[in-house]
Amino acid sequence: MTDRSGVPEGKRFPLPLSSVTGGARKPGAPAPVATPQTATQNAARALGGAAQPPKAPPPGPKPPGYAPQATQSAPAAQRSDLMATEAIRRAMVARVAAQGVKDGAVLAALEAVPRHLFIEPALSSQAYIDASLPIGHNQTISQPYIVARMIEAMRAGKSGADAPLGRVLEIGTGCGYQAAVLARVAKEVYSIERIKPLHELAKANLRPLRISNLRLHYGDGMLGLAQVAPFDGIILAAAGLEVPRALLEQLAIGARLVAPVGGQVQRLERITRTGKSEWASETLESCHFVPLRPGTV
Ligand code: SAH
Repeated sequence: MTDRSGVPEGKRFPLPLSSVTGGARKPGAPAPVATPQTATQNAARALGGAAQPPKAPPPGPKPPGYAPQATQSAPAAQRSDLMATEAIRRAMVARVAAQGVKDGAVLAALEAVPRHLFIEPALSSQAYIDASLPIGHNQTISQPYIVARMIEAMRAGKSGADAPLGRVLEIGTGCGYQAAVLARVAKEVYSIERIKPLHELAKANLRPLRISNLRLHYGDGMLGLAQVAPFDGIILAAAGLEVPRALLEQLAIGARLVAPVGGQVQRLERITRTGKSEWASETLESCHFVPLRPGTV
């Protein structure tokens, strides 16, 4: 896989530490937006907001002749922005871990994906707050905690904790953030979006990251992707009153689907396919997602 740690030019931004700690905003800076999934964020803050100002990483031992070409040629200001971004992302991951996510592969994936590249520039100072944020078309980028929690739940119980999942399907690409995280813990990722401009936005956001094991589809995710099924895991990023039958049928036996289910009041459910015509369901926790809708627009 290609190295995806580089931040392309034009997507860097000034990133105040207060954006992590939830501290004072600059006058005139946009206020954090209350969108679905903020309940968990508020709960986490009430628990004492584990965020501490991130420490800069110690300069590690460098191999003989070490010459970091890319960073040497970048202007100093850009270099320090990049380091600040990485440190702030580490702090975000520490908070997600403090909320109970334990899967090291998932936390590493969260740390590796530059979430600010998936957020419009006006909001990018909020990229590493653990909150969902608007992405247009009445949709949101999911809260980092819930992204991690869903992927962890989909992987949990797998033999060989560090082995990547095989083929995974995501319903609701949105801006593409979770798809990028998934692509770090699964061999093949397919993601479907029903709103054409968001499908295009995700393509544009993901292009610079050059993720070779991710395929984006424009269509109605309630139908799944029968042509590439069965899947070793399925995640829904939008809540239906029930899980579409087609998706249950496209799960491999032994595989898990994780989905928010409900209307105003929602719960995160994990469904394991236990046999050809058998599925077992567990409720994990409460959540709040945008609605799952049929058809395409
Ligand atoms: N995965 C995104 C979350 C996007 S919000 C992230 O990483 O942040 C959920 C998305 O689900 C929205 O973009 C919405 O348009 C989409 N969606 C809702 N119903 C859908 C359906 N039937 N098929 C595909 N996408 C759907």
